[in-house]
Amino acid sequence: MATTKPLAAIVRSSDGVAERQKAGTYHGDEEQVAEVERYVTNLPSKPPIVWMEPELDVSGGKPIDKRPALLAAIEGVEDGTYGGIVVAYLSRLTRSHSGRAIWDRVEAVGGHVHAARENLDTSTARGRFVRDLFLDLAVLEREEHSERFAERRKKTVEAGVWRVRQVPRGYAFAGPVNEAGKFKGEEARRLVPGPDVEDLRQAFRDHGRGVSIVAIADRLGMTPSGVRQMLKNRVYLGELRDGPNLKLNAHEALVTEAEFEAAQRSVPRAPRSMVDGPALLAGLVRCASCGHIMSRRATKQVIYGCAVHHSGGRCPKPASITTANLDAYVESVALPELDRLAVSASEGRGVQRAEDAVANAELELSALMKTITAAGLDAGDRDLAHELRVRKQAIEDARECLRLERQRQPVLPVAGMSGADVWEGLDATERNLLLRNLLAAVVVAPAGGRGRRVPIEDRVRVLAYGTDVKLPDQRPRAEKPLGIVPIPLPDVSTLGVLAA
Ligand SMILES: [Zn+2]
Repeated sequence: MATTKPLAAIVRSSDGVAERQKAGTYHGDEEQVAEVERYVTNLPSKPPIVWMEPELDVSGGKPIDKRPALLAAIEGVEDGTYGGIVVAYLSRLTRSHSGRAIWDRVEAVGGHVHAARENLDTSTARGRFVRDLFLDLAVLEREEHSERFAERRKKTVEAGVWRVRQVPRGYAFAGPVNEAGKFKGEEARRLVPGPDVEDLRQAFRDHGRGVSIVAIADRLGMTPSGVRQMLKNRVYLGELRDGPNLKLNAHEALVTEAEFEAAQRSVPRAPRSMVDGPALLAGLVRCASCGHIMSRRATKQVIYGCAVHHSGGRCPKPASITTANLDAYVESVALPELDRLAVSASEGRGVQRAEDAVANAELELSALMKTITAAGLDAGDRDLAHELRVRKQAIEDARECLRLERQRQPVLPVAGMSGADVWEGLDATERNLLLRNLLAAVVVAPAGGRGRRVPIEDRVRVLAYGTDVKLPDQRPRAEKPLGIVPIPLPDVSTLGVLAA
């Protein structure tokens, strides 16, 4: 008797499996396993079953190449390991029209797709017709589900209802609750100031005055990252947001816009260094070959050097330069300009521009939301969801710029004193801070071959804040490393390039 090839069995569940497992209410995988086993036992050839890695919390709308377990099953059939694929019922296999390719690929090599409950025979025209009906139904169910879900979230936000059990610190549910502890109606789930509202307000005011996150965390019995998230949460401005939905003035704001913004400020931290005291140009020096910040380190001499290996790749031609030489050069170029730089940086146009950018980004998002609503489009649709994410990211980016702009103001030279006078009275940290507020970057190109001497003014550009020269973004973003972005040395006549 010829050995029967095993069938690759797929088990898939999409919604909140992890939560339901925790609550002990999830048994979907066991039911699917039982259904597959019953079906295969009744097949005349009784093939063995090979269980693929269960797909838990995996949407059936995903394409095949985004589902490793399904892909392994199909490829296993194609390389002759499995005789086919088996699932408890068709919608476990796929809820995507593109899922038809599963049958095409499996049947192209003489394999068979078994759906235990529907028991389809796709070798006949009628079987394929019925398969397509089930497939259409599975897609429809998924689309309707996501429509309902999106609609529910939208309505909840519109009603100003706080959806999850835990309320943000400082707030409480409006109530009341009935005898069973359940909220009476939507009004009861709105946020009102809670018993610890003063603690919350104090935390914002404290951080706005410069009290450290750690000290605040200590006082409130929270973790520092918890405090950081709390101080960034726009819920305290009265905003209620869930996915793409946003309602302003959904509940009472606990802090003013000014208090909120003040708490977003923090002094930019200079990179840690191996030499005592901060480097004059800490955080400012960039390698022209890769765009990354160069840090100070001690070799035979103390230098600013490119770190060479970056998360986004290797620097093709790392620059380095003697700290003392570069510091002296930048001082000679920047000091005569301090007064002018301080004025242009304090004119407030930067803040105004950044505020406008935030407003514009918010307008764009709300215009897109209006279009979606008016045209009755599905916000869960892949392209639309992408578009929404892009707009929301644009808002976040604009807010980050605004935050940085606002940080620029506090350390400008004292009114009535010349920049050079002020400079004399500053310590290393203050000088670094001042330069970081007035300069965008100091770009250093590699010196060239061994023994070649390139005059410093030919390989260094000092860029004033507000320069036209485009600099790669150095903000930390875990999911997107900076990569290698060379900064070509701009011509000295470019706006914002300072020269001796
Ligand atoms: Zn480099």
